[in-house]
Amino acid sequence: MTSVQRLLLGSFVRPAEETGTGAPRVEGVYGYLVRHPDGLVLLDTGIGRGDEETEQWYRPRRVPLPQALASAGASLDDLSLVVNCHLHFDHCGGNPLVGGTPILAQRTELAVARAGDYTFTGLLDHPGSNYQALDGEAEPMTGVHVVPTPGHVEGHQSVVVVAADGTVVLAGQSHDGASAWSADALATRAAALGHGAPLPVAPEWMDRLLAFDPRRVVFAHDAAVWEA
Ligand SMILES: [Zn+2]
Repeated sequence: MTSVQRLLLGSFVRPAEETGTGAPRVEGVYGYLVRHPDGLVLLDTGIGRGDEETEQWYRPRRVPLPQALASAGASLDDLSLVVNCHLHFDHCGGNPLVGGTPILAQRTELAVARAGDYTFTGLLDHPGSNYQALDGEAEPMTGVHVVPTPGHVEGHQSVVVVAADGTVVLAGQSHDGASAWSADALATRAAALGHGAPLPVAPEWMDRLLAFDPRRVVFAHDAAVWEA
């Protein structure tokens, strides 16, 4: 039976200039390990090494991917498939460690990342790397759906997992956290709930994700969980 487990891959301190609250905020970096009858799937691989300026700005602390996997009783060799929600350095840091294991990313995201000035050199296209470019939605294993969720970046994608205890959306950074998801989920239903204009507009892909009838939604930078 398919299950989902969270991995803590590190943390960083978002400076006050970026939080909108006037205070810095510590944010977790979470990956998700999907145990599927056809193999282990990993969403996101941790925080890569940035340049000196980035290191000082975000002050990241990393959990090496092998260690994070070991805490879940798994190893790099066990992985059948890797998915990156997007290719910023805090999501693909462990990609060079996965060897020839297929890595799924949207074609648009790969193109932007390979053009430079997007993620750090050496995190992409390691020797023997096996990127598989997606053009939109895919179902690489039965009940494991990759769904484009542009917004944070144009090539962002999320993963929907039909698990034993209900469907789980691994949102990645489609939303910064559970509260933002909750607001968008309600926005899609606002008119049906009888609210008149003006109403907020949720991203179009929210309808696609909600059509899977998720029981839980989990995030790359928030330990909070949305529940139906
Ligand atoms: Zn991020």
